[in-house]
Amino acid sequence: MQADLLLHPQWIVPVDAAESVLADYSLAVAGGRIRAVIPSAEARADIQAEQELELPCHALIPGLINAHTHSPMTLLRGLADDLPLMTWLNEHIWPAEQRWVDPEFVRAGTRLAALEMLKSGTICFNDMYFYAEVTAKAAAEAGMRAIAGMIVVDFPTGFATAPEEYLRKGLELHDRYRDHALIRTAFAPHAPYSVSDGSFGRVRTLADELDVPVHIHLHETRDEILQSLRDHGERPLARLERLGLLGPGLVAVHMTQLEEAEIETVARMDAQVIHCPESNLKLASGFCPVARLLDAGVNVALGTDGAASNNDLDMMGEIQTAALLGKGVAGSPSALHAHTALRMATRNGARAFGIDEETGSLEVGKSADMVALDLRDPHTQPVYNPVSQIVYAAGRDQVRHVWVAGRHLIRDGEPTTLDPTAILEEAREWGARIAED
Ligand SMILES: [Zn+2]
Repeated sequence: MQADLLLHPQWIVPVDAAESVLADYSLAVAGGRIRAVIPSAEARADIQAEQELELPCHALIPGLINAHTHSPMTLLRGLADDLPLMTWLNEHIWPAEQRWVDPEFVRAGTRLAALEMLKSGTICFNDMYFYAEVTAKAAAEAGMRAIAGMIVVDFPTGFATAPEEYLRKGLELHDRYRDHALIRTAFAPHAPYSVSDGSFGRVRTLADELDVPVHIHLHETRDEILQSLRDHGERPLARLERLGLLGPGLVAVHMTQLEEAEIETVARMDAQVIHCPESNLKLASGFCPVARLLDAGVNVALGTDGAASNNDLDMMGEIQTAALLGKGVAGSPSALHAHTALRMATRNGARAFGIDEETGSLEVGKSADMVALDLRDPHTQPVYNPVSQIVYAAGRDQVRHVWVAGRHLIRDGEPTTLDPTAILEEAREWGARIAED
């Protein structure tokens, strides 16, 4: 058998249905796809590859999927901290965005985010922000996958003045990336408190027509629930159900405020839940009942949220936080196993956006979207079970190699498609400008 690339890691964690952990296996890539996952002795005898890479004491895992972020907000990292959500948004983030956000801001912020994410093993991110065409282009240039959000809010911004203009710009974006190998689109109505029934209706019709997901912040805080009860006489989830948005295409982010019957509704309607534990902790928004959702059969994936509320885009850290918090919230150390936490950051993320035929696990036929973690550091030795080390002990600085569709985007810790010096210089310039204002 011929291959373009043959990897010999010490362990492969494919994140398959059987939760396998393979020792002394090799993985072959041809035409950007995984062609074989077989014992190393067999691979060395039978596979002729253009390039072979020995990865001693490395674990090969699927590329991580950051299922909710606002990538350009890296430029607002650390601008305002230690505040509740609505004060933080109304008094700090939204005024700063009103003042500064334009295509150049989005380009610089996305490039900084792409550099941070790739270096920490993230190969795909689901984004919600203004000028998403700029984000999509920057992601594609970096060689990453992205789901670009067609944002909708009911108030004017520098990006658009009214819901119809947001939607029109979103549709242009969708058309432009219709057949792109790496970029997908999703509608991104911001939240129940910033989008009217009329706009939700338009989103629903268009999402059905185009068969794309609808990505929204939902049940993030107790205040959101109270405001909805006051303004609409119902909880946000019930409102979205009444508007016909609750179904497999709904990607609901946060979900910290859930009653038992709502968990059953989410499971019955097969909606997707995105858990952002560090953002929820930092804003003290509440706790997503992850173990109960998973037990009810809900697909739960993992996101960092934006860098202004986390404050990093580190999925390795997020996996560990999700595993620990999930146990704490469930009151059980056996809730949310290490392998489950890793699945939330990979396979479940792909499933949430309907790209699980393409990515999310290391299985023959899927795109070669892979991360090699070097476990030789003192804090990940010795290795009894590589999944334990990856989830509970490893850090993002142990990401040594990243591939997307077989393309080597991080080689020995260094990016091949991005120029860190230029990106960091640009970020510093933006920071100085914003700080001076
Ligand atoms: Zn968010």
